[in-house]
Amino acid sequence: MNKNNLQELVTKIQQKHHQDKGGKNASYIPYLASVPAQLSALAVVTAEGEVYASGDSDYGFAIESISKVATLALALEDKGSETVRRKVGDSPTGLPFNSVMALELHQDKPLSPLVNAGAMATTSIIEAKDKEERWARILDFQRQMASERVVLSDEVNESEQTTNFHNRAIAWLLYSAEHMFCDPMEACEVYTRQCSTLINTVDLATMAATLAAGGKNPISQKQVIKPQNIPHILAEMMMEGFYEKSGDWAYTVGLPSKSGVGGGIMAVVPNVMGIAAFSPPLDSAGNSVRGQKMVHELAHTLGLNLFLPK
Ligand code: GLN
Repeated sequence: MNKNNLQELVTKIQQKHHQDKGGKNASYIPYLASVPAQLSALAVVTAEGEVYASGDSDYGFAIESISKVATLALALEDKGSETVRRKVGDSPTGLPFNSVMALELHQDKPLSPLVNAGAMATTSIIEAKDKEERWARILDFQRQMASERVVLSDEVNESEQTTNFHNRAIAWLLYSAEHMFCDPMEACEVYTRQCSTLINTVDLATMAATLAAGGKNPISQKQVIKPQNIPHILAEMMMEGFYEKSGDWAYTVGLPSKSGVGGGIMAVVPNVMGIAAFSPPLDSAGNSVRGQKMVHELAHTLGLNLFLPK
């Protein structure tokens, strides 16, 4: 597909869905309830660094759980895949992102780095001498994968830090079962900050494109992630990126993807492109309703399902 046609397709799909109804903004984080629900954007960044975008693609929204992918990638750089696998786990839970029952069922081991429990455990194994260094390394890694425009929002952070009681409880449960590898409240606080950065849809597509391009950010041209870590990250995204709806997504779209309750979705087409969509209203699992429709339609139209025979 040539450049004009791809831009036309991105625009057409974004416009087609931008008024679709259905879903609700996340409300358990007060900031997220106040984001205008009509916002929507779709973007593609190719493995060669070409950018295509439509809609509110420069609106900065809260990255939320998509941050779990960047912290996982950093943990793999720091510790290697066998340590991450042993300490955090590598399998889907089949349960909601903040499930305590998932912990109960597995002796308080989180299983997946992409649910809240596993993400906090992953944050806790990042190499750092103290909380501020842990945070600085994670923020820097988000920026390297996406862009220098990624910033912490004090407003989102304040909104989350003052309401994250459930995550604090999960952090203590992990600690009591020896699945937490730094002070549990430090891990929870840094995890909450990593969820509170603002990213726009083009920069999110760049983050996905970094994963698509073997760990090299196609805009900055910097090798951010070791190529051998990419398959582990994409496997986790395929299995758990949409929580209890990850199976539906794999069945219908067939791309490793990750959602956040800020309304963002990123999807990776290995060696080809990163796709990102944004729109705040969510389904019951916390995945953007319009975002799913936009990514699904784009991937389907371009025949990008990884499991399609050639
Ligand atoms: N910060 C949110 C939380 O921990 C992220 C959840 C999400 O995006 N699914 O609850």
